[in-house]
Amino acid sequence: MERKVFQLGDIVQMKKNHPCGSNEMEIIRMGMDIRIKCVGCKHSVLIPRAKFEKNMKKVLRSAEAEMGADASPNDLT
Ligand SMILES: [Zn+2]
Repeated sequence: MERKVFQLGDIVQMKKNHPCGSNEMEIIRMGMDIRIKCVGCKHSVLIPRAKFEKNMKKVLRSAEAEMGADASPNDLT
């Protein structure tokens, strides 16, 4: 299985949508548990790292990449 690479500040897509309808989450704290904030409703949740890795689909926007390149979050091609 491919290892998922993520870091603080990344916007990630979860496998399940948040109840508010958004499935984009921002990583706002990393440790044994990870705190993510819903981009849609700004609600934050603390989840165990293993569970986060299991439920995370992919990194949509890397915090590192955003500093340099002008990444387009709406690339629908
Ligand atoms: Zn939400």
